[in-house]
Amino acid sequence: MESKKEVIIIGGGVIGLACAHYLIEKGARVRIIEKDGIGDGASHGNCGLLYFSDVIPLCSPGAVGQEIYRTLCGTSPLYIKPTLDFKRLTWLLKFAAKCRSNTMERAATDKYEILKYSDLLFDKLLALPDLGCDFEKKGILTVFNDPKKLDKFKETNGFLETYDLGYKRLEKDQVLEMEPALSPRIAGAWYSTFDWHLRPELLMESWRKHLAKKGLIIEERAKMLDFEISGNTITHVNTIQGKFAADSFIMATGAWAPGTVRQLGIHLPVQPGKGYSITMERPGICPEIPCVLYEKNMVVTPWKSAYRLGGTMEFSGYSTSLNSKRMSKLINGAAQYMKDPTGHPIIEEWAGLRPMTYDDMPIIDRSPAQENLVIATGHGMLGLTLATGTGKIVADMVYDDTPDINISPFGISRF
Ligand SMILES: Cc1cc2nc3c(=O)[nH]c(=O)nc-3n(C[C@H](O)[C@H](O)[C@H](O)COP(=O)(O)OP(=O)(O)OC[C@H]3O[C@@H](n4cnc5c(N)ncnc54)[C@H](O)[C@@H]3O)c2cc1C
Repeated sequence: MESKKEVIIIGGGVIGLACAHYLIEKGARVRIIEKDGIGDGASHGNCGLLYFSDVIPLCSPGAVGQEIYRTLCGTSPLYIKPTLDFKRLTWLLKFAAKCRSNTMERAATDKYEILKYSDLLFDKLLALPDLGCDFEKKGILTVFNDPKKLDKFKETNGFLETYDLGYKRLEKDQVLEMEPALSPRIAGAWYSTFDWHLRPELLMESWRKHLAKKGLIIEERAKMLDFEISGNTITHVNTIQGKFAADSFIMATGAWAPGTVRQLGIHLPVQPGKGYSITMERPGICPEIPCVLYEKNMVVTPWKSAYRLGGTMEFSGYSTSLNSKRMSKLINGAAQYMKDPTGHPIIEEWAGLRPMTYDDMPIIDRSPAQENLVIATGHGMLGLTLATGTGKIVADMVYDDTPDINISPFGISRF
């Protein structure tokens, strides 16, 4: 009888747990190594959108010009710390070079495949009775204050329609009827029926318990230091809590991935994209449908158990310290769209680091030099949404099974 495959996953975020889920399903014995606690990274306080309709990459035509303009006006949710960081500058230049319509169309098609795949897998996953996470299938309202921008979104919607992901345009009265928590100041909205939402920290908690019952071994406060390698095979991972052996290793360290693979001579163009959220009790007039506040690039997510404002994108390194200026931008932004923008008391103020690639596509690939290491990072603004698809692809790669979708767009060799 073939013995069980031993797999070590480094990184206990949503990508790490998803890999564990599908590996355990295939019969592997899995251990997760996490430097802090499971779900303490970007997977904790994000906006909780399962944004399956979000096929358009961040690097789309006009993105750079628009953000430079908004930065000069002081209205941009983007902040780039003005330091001479060569890697960050190179990343930003490469991002700018990707903002072309032909690149965007190709990326959208690749993103569509993994979004659709993740959607199917989430449907099955969230049917598990012990994965409680305030999950709801209510769609998303993309809300506009500016009538011109509301109209212009018609072009974006035309693009979405080519993937059968068209939104429905709602005039102001229709939106207010559907979502009375929105302010009468809004101009209108586009409604997507393809997207769902959940409370990410609850998912992380219940998924961890579910997997622990199925045999997942969890090593917390066990920062990975380096690998031991024999020929082109990794044999052990050294951590501050000792060394662990396995047949296969998965690197799911999110924004920290570049540092954790440097020893192997791999240079991943992943930058930490810092975002903030404020979680509160539900306000008196609480929305029922998550809202993307278009001009502010921020999200309002309501759950049965809480209410969250989230957004901003700061390129300022690895600190997760809170910046009160950016937190107030979230509150002020919400006040321009919601009747009752804040709930009391505040439950948590949070910042997390998105693992950003300059082409806004994840990296899911084998290490070029070590055949028993798979890298899964770079999920940017969509790590929660793409978790199931990524986890299943990684499990197939570990077992040398052909993944269900084409994974060449996620390869390391594209950089
Ligand atoms: C404000 C905000 C809102 C967002 N909203 C959404 C949303 O609505 N929908 C969506 O799909 N996505 C959203 N995202 C993005 C999403 O949160 C991330 O893409 C996703 O959480 C990345 O998951 P991950 O597992 O790769 O990274 P993480 O959750 O950061 O996990 C990586 C883990 O690796 C660990 N680690 C790092 N180095 C080591 C080491 N040396 N040894 C051991 N462990 C290590 C870290 O401690 C961490 O726990 C949002 C992000 C932010 C910041």
